[in-house]
Amino acid sequence: MSDSDGKKTLGLRGGSRPGNVKQSFSHGRTKNVVVETKRKRVVVPKPGAGKGGSGASPATDGSRRPAGITDAEMARRLKALQAAKAREVEEAAQREAEEKARAEERERRRAEQEAKEREQREAEEKARRKAEEEERKRLEAEEAAKRAAAAPAAEPEKAKSAGPAAGRSAAKPAAQAPRKADREREERGRGGKGRDQGRRSGKLTLGQATGEGGRQRSMAAMKRKQERARQKAMGTVEREKVIRDVQLPETIVVSELANRMAERVGDVVKSLMNMGMMVTQNQSIDADTAELIIEEFGHKVVRVSDSDVEDVIKEVEDKEEDLQPRPPVITIMGHVDHGKTSLLDAIRDARVVAGEAGGITQHIGAYQVTTDSGTVLSFLDTPGHAAFTSMRSRGAQVTDIVVLVVAADDSVMPQTIEAINHAKAAGVPMIVAINKIDKPAADPNKVRAELLQHEVIVEAMSGDVQDVEVSAVTGQGLDELLEAIALQAEILELKANPNRAAQGAVIEAQLDVGRGPVATVLVQNGTLHQGDIFVVGEQYGKVRALINDKGERVKEAGPSVPVEVLGLNGTPEAGDVLNVTETEAQAREIAEYREQAAKDKRAAAGAATTLEQLMAKAKEDENVSELPILVKADVQGSAEAIVQAMEKIGNDEVRVRVLHSGVGAITETDIGLAEASGAPVMGFNVRANTSARNTANQKGVEIRYYSVIYDLVDDVKAAASGLLSAEIKENFIGYATIKDVFKVSNVGKVAGCLVTEGVARRSAGVRLLRDNVVIHEGTLKTLKRFKDEVAEVQSGQECGMAFENYEDIRAGDVIEIFERQEVERKLD
Ligand code: GDP
Ligand code: MG
Repeated sequence: MSDSDGKKTLGLRGGSRPGNVKQSFSHGRTKNVVVETKRKRVVVPKPGAGKGGSGASPATDGSRRPAGITDAEMARRLKALQAAKAREVEEAAQREAEEKARAEERERRRAEQEAKEREQREAEEKARRKAEEEERKRLEAEEAAKRAAAAPAAEPEKAKSAGPAAGRSAAKPAAQAPRKADREREERGRGGKGRDQGRRSGKLTLGQATGEGGRQRSMAAMKRKQERARQKAMGTVEREKVIRDVQLPETIVVSELANRMAERVGDVVKSLMNMGMMVTQNQSIDADTAELIIEEFGHKVVRVSDSDVEDVIKEVEDKEEDLQPRPPVITIMGHVDHGKTSLLDAIRDARVVAGEAGGITQHIGAYQVTTDSGTVLSFLDTPGHAAFTSMRSRGAQVTDIVVLVVAADDSVMPQTIEAINHAKAAGVPMIVAINKIDKPAADPNKVRAELLQHEVIVEAMSGDVQDVEVSAVTGQGLDELLEAIALQAEILELKANPNRAAQGAVIEAQLDVGRGPVATVLVQNGTLHQGDIFVVGEQYGKVRALINDKGERVKEAGPSVPVEVLGLNGTPEAGDVLNVTETEAQAREIAEYREQAAKDKRAAAGAATTLEQLMAKAKEDENVSELPILVKADVQGSAEAIVQAMEKIGNDEVRVRVLHSGVGAITETDIGLAEASGAPVMGFNVRANTSARNTANQKGVEIRYYSVIYDLVDDVKAAASGLLSAEIKENFIGYATIKDVFKVSNVGKVAGCLVTEGVARRSAGVRLLRDNVVIHEGTLKTLKRFKDEVAEVQSGQECGMAFENYEDIRAGDVIEIFERQEVERKLD
């Protein structure tokens, strides 16, 4: 029984307690069992019979007896009845007295307790008392339970024992007594007046006869007994009925284990404790421990591993005859401003460049175009190379061909080299598009020559990398580029089986306000249909709608077709692989396993998950200053691009730590995290919701909005630069030689000097050199020219100098005069 129950009893005496009782009777719940601390009394007269005797029975007797009974007999019986009545009255009085005494005793105790409570407000005291009380109650409850076990049998007996007193005629009412008692308990339960009523009549039920305490006890006991019986029955039934096959991975969170067994978490934790394992419901336990628990609860263990769960989506090798040609998937890469977006738009013949903020590619888009010769090409537009790499690191190799854009007027730049390396690492063939060929400064041969240095040998240099001179602006060479791509695709002999369950890769994903999580998926094999059930990374769903690159709803998407998929349960990440499964259970199971596996992996890697951990980690590297930031972006691709850019900022003294990055509006949670770690929140094409804005204002959390990644990067760089400890530069400004030393009262030793080089400055720092050894460094107390205190003395002039807090000066010592300057440094 819990504290609160005990409290309730004390606090809500009268009205609410009977309420509890009633509830327990009608619903059979144990929740509000009330066990009062009352004296124990086991053997008592059965007053249930009394009522029958004094009220209904005589009338019944009177109307019944005359049928076959003599007057004498009748009179005798009436006499006996009267005697019984008298005795009963006596008994009733006695009971009443007893009851009163008991009530008084109760009252007294309550008063005592209340007084005590008032006195002992201290938490400790209270807790102790409560514990004692609880213990007492539990003991009594047990006793009551014991009593109750005997009660059904005992009550008729008691009724019988009361019966003779009321005459034999009481037999029938006596038999009803237990039920009547119950009914009355119920009645009492229904309203607060039950108790008063009971006290007034004081002779109606066993419970009343034994005093309220007794009644309460027996009620509680009854209830408990019933409950126990019910639990027993239900428990055994349940155990017999539902032996669950519990899927058990290598590790499992306690609450999940309980969930899978359909057992209560508390029970599971308890049995773990019994095994000597002190774990909370949120902790993971290993499979061996879990197996013991599962067996203890009588369920069946089904050991699974991640790979087992994923088996349902294991790839089936496509038969050669099932394979059909599929369009190539092309990624355009290159240095910033070399014209990636322009080129893609030119190819699509759609000019969205102007509308794009800052001209930087913001979203990962995917589009299909058909060349003049009828070849279909799927283009991916990525924000830089980060997405390409991070997608690859997630196992999604979507790109078949890389088009490397190099501006003919700018030639090979750092990101060009990066792109080359990415493409090489991925083993993806390249086609070089020498862009901006329309520009007067265009020098395509310089581009070819420089590419050579990076082992990209174009055809013009007798290599095998196709190169095409293009202009995204004039459209020159675009057809050639497309044909070059088509040719490359032909060489690659790209094939897929459209007639199988779809598999694809997430190119971008976002949480759309109206549509929920939306993922742009490039189907890689099979065909994705509306209504398909799928798992994608740690998410799963059922295709509610498919929208193609032209914004049209489609019913299906085959190999190399990019589509927006609606109907996800959460937002996946770019690079996540989508697999269609047969059932939703499978999909969910896989998603959950992946989620758990990812969690475990993070935990195992000791990844900073809590702020404390973050702080601790930051402290480990005390020499490194960190600029913590939070990043929220409109799409996953942008978030990733920003995070990767952030990771690159800094040196061995300063670095940027992205505490959290995510997709969607800036929320209060973000602000909370930002506040706790003193981080600004960077919103990229997203805004803070109202509550987040308010909280941020209150707590002084800075929110910055951006729509151009480079602006964001620049700002963070500037902020990080602020963390660089400013470099202290020392400038030498002069030398002076001590000619003589005077003692001046009130000032101390003063050096008569000649400034030999530069200037002597009053505010400057000074060093005392003796034989070229620095013997003191400090500041000047005075700088005098003749009698006047001056700020500066030029070279060749004599002056008087005295050091602050230093007197050991001698003729012949040299004074070096210098100034310090703090130089702000910048990250490049
Ligand atoms: P991205 O950063 O690689 O995506 O480059 P953008 O497509 O945003 O282009 C950067 C700038 O170069 C824009 O101002 C374009 O108008 C310009 N540009 C792109 N292609 C050409 C081209 O072929 N000729 C000329 N003259 N300008 C171009
Ligand atoms: Mg761009």
